[in-house]
Amino acid sequence: MNSKRAIVVGSGVAGLSAAVRLAAKGYKVEVFEAADGPGGKLRERSVAGYRFDLGPSLFTLPELVTAIDSLPGAPAEMPPFEFEKLDRSTHYFWPNRKRLVAWADNERFVTEAVETLGADAEAVRAMLAASARNFEGTRGVFLDQPIHHALRRGPRNGWSPLLKALPRLPLTGTLHGFNARMLKGQPELVQLFDRYATYNGSDPYRAPAMMNVIPHLEHGVGTFFPRGGMFGIVKHLYKSAIARRIQFHFNAAVDRILHNGSQVTGIQLKNGNQHHAPVVVSNADIHPTYRRLLPDLPQPERILGQERSTSGLIFYWGVRGTSPELHLHNILFSEDYKREFERIAANGDPGDDPTVYINITSKVKADDAPVGCENWFVLVNVSANPEKYDDPAAIKRVKQAVIDRVEQSLGREPGSFESLIEFEDVLRPSDIESRTSSWRGALYGASSNSPMSAFLRHRNKSRDLEGLYFCGGSVHPGGGIPLCLLSGRIVSELVAS
Ligand code: FAD
Repeated sequence: MNSKRAIVVGSGVAGLSAAVRLAAKGYKVEVFEAADGPGGKLRERSVAGYRFDLGPSLFTLPELVTAIDSLPGAPAEMPPFEFEKLDRSTHYFWPNRKRLVAWADNERFVTEAVETLGADAEAVRAMLAASARNFEGTRGVFLDQPIHHALRRGPRNGWSPLLKALPRLPLTGTLHGFNARMLKGQPELVQLFDRYATYNGSDPYRAPAMMNVIPHLEHGVGTFFPRGGMFGIVKHLYKSAIARRIQFHFNAAVDRILHNGSQVTGIQLKNGNQHHAPVVVSNADIHPTYRRLLPDLPQPERILGQERSTSGLIFYWGVRGTSPELHLHNILFSEDYKREFERIAANGDPGDDPTVYINITSKVKADDAPVGCENWFVLVNVSANPEKYDDPAAIKRVKQAVIDRVEQSLGREPGSFESLIEFEDVLRPSDIESRTSSWRGALYGASSNSPMSAFLRHRNKSRDLEGLYFCGGSVHPGGGIPLCLLSGRIVSELVAS
C-alpha cells in the first residue's frame, strides 16, 4: 500500500480543506461523498429565476480560503478566490420599531448606536475592545491547533497571548450576564450582543461569557461576500482539489471505516466495495462516524451525548417587490429573547415570538432574483429535533409567526406580505439530517451551552486507531465555515507530523 494515500469521507468545507491540504503535502487523496456533489451544508439551488445558497450565509475570515491558493504545488492556472468586504454586517430591527445598521467601521457603528438607540458610546467601545482582546488572546490556543496538543504542550504555541489576556478574560458567568453588565440599561444592545451565541447554535442565557470573542469576527475582522455567492467557496475549494488531481466519488456513501484493531486500513462503501489507504479522515458528523462507520470501536459517550446545537427551520422565498430597509443580513428580534430560548429548549421552537434572520443575496448580487424581486433566505432557530416538523401544520404555525414579525418590525400593513411570496421551499431539521448526516439536524455539532464545551469537542486525531482523523463542524475547533476550514488544516498538519 502506498503510504502517502489518504481517503476523506465527506466533501463539506472541512473535508475539502483537508483534502486539498493533504494533496499539497504530497498525498494521493480520494474523497467519497454520499451526496451527488460537494459542499455538504453549503450547497446552492436555482429555481424559478431565483438562486439560493442553501445553508451558511455569513462569511468571515476569507484568508482561510485564500490560504489554499498559496500552498505548495498550487496550479498556476487557478483563478484566485474572489470576494468583497462589506461596509456593514447586519441590519437590526426590534419590535418597538427601533433599527440599527451595524457598520463595519466601528466608530460609525458607535455613532449610529448613540443616535438610534441612545447608547452609551463608551460602553459600546469597551464592548468591542473586550471582544477584540479576548479573541486575539484565545485564538492561538483554542482555534489554530489541536486543542489537546495545546493543553499538553504548556506555555508555548499561542500560550503567551493567552497568558497576557488571562487576567481580563470573562472566565465565569454567561454571555448574557457579561453583556448585561457591560451594557447596563441598553436592552437592545444587550440583545444584539447576546445573539452571537447563536453563531454556533447556543443559548446566550447558558453559554459561557467567553463567547464574547465572536462579535470581533463581525466588528473587527469584518463580513465578506464571495463572488458568485456562498457556494463560490465550495466551487473554489473543489476546483483547487480537481487541479491537484484529487479523485472524487459522488453518490458513494461510506458504510464502514476499516481497520485491523490498531491501524486504519480503508473504507467500505454501502455497495460493498472496499478502498484501502493508511489514512482516513472523516468529515462526517462525529455521531454517525462512531455509531455507523465505527460501531466496533469504544464509543466516546460523554462527547456523543452532549446537547446538540440548535437547528433551523428555513424558508426560501422568492419575493415580489423590493425592501430598501433590508440588506444582505437582517435580524428581526423577538420581544422577549429569554423566553424565546426557554421555549426553544422546552418546545423545540420559539412559538409566536421568534427572532427572524433574513438573508437576501440579491442585494449584493442582483442576478440572484428576477428584476424587481428578492431572494429571501429566512431562518428561525429551532431545536435539533428531526421529528418536529413532520406535520405541515407545525411549519405553517412558524411561517405565520415569521410573517407577523416581518409585518410588525418593518412597519407593513398586517396581512400585506404573504401574497408577495411567489416561490417557497422549506428546509427542516430532518432534511438537514438526511442530506448531510448531521446528527438530529444540528447546524453546528454540539452546542456551547456549557463552560466545558470547548474542551469536549472531539479531538482531530483518533486515540484508538493510527491513521484515523476527524474534521468538520462537530469536532475541534467547532462549527461554522471558518472553524471547519481550520479543522481541515489542523488534520493535514497532524497527518503530516
Ligand atoms: P458538512 O457540511 O456537514 O458536510 C459533511 C459531508 O459529509 C456531507 O456532504 C455528507 O453528505 C457527507 N457524509 C456524511 N456521512 C457520509 C458517509 N457515510 N459517506 C460519505 N459521505 C458522507 N456557518 C457559517 O459559518 N455561517 C453561517 O451563516 C451559517 N449558517 C448556517 C445555516 C444553515 C441553514 C446551516 C445548515 C448551516 C449553517 N452554518 C453556518 C454552519 C456551516 O454550514 C457548517 O458548520 C459547515 O458547512 C459544516 O461543514 P462540514 O465540513 O462540517 O461538513
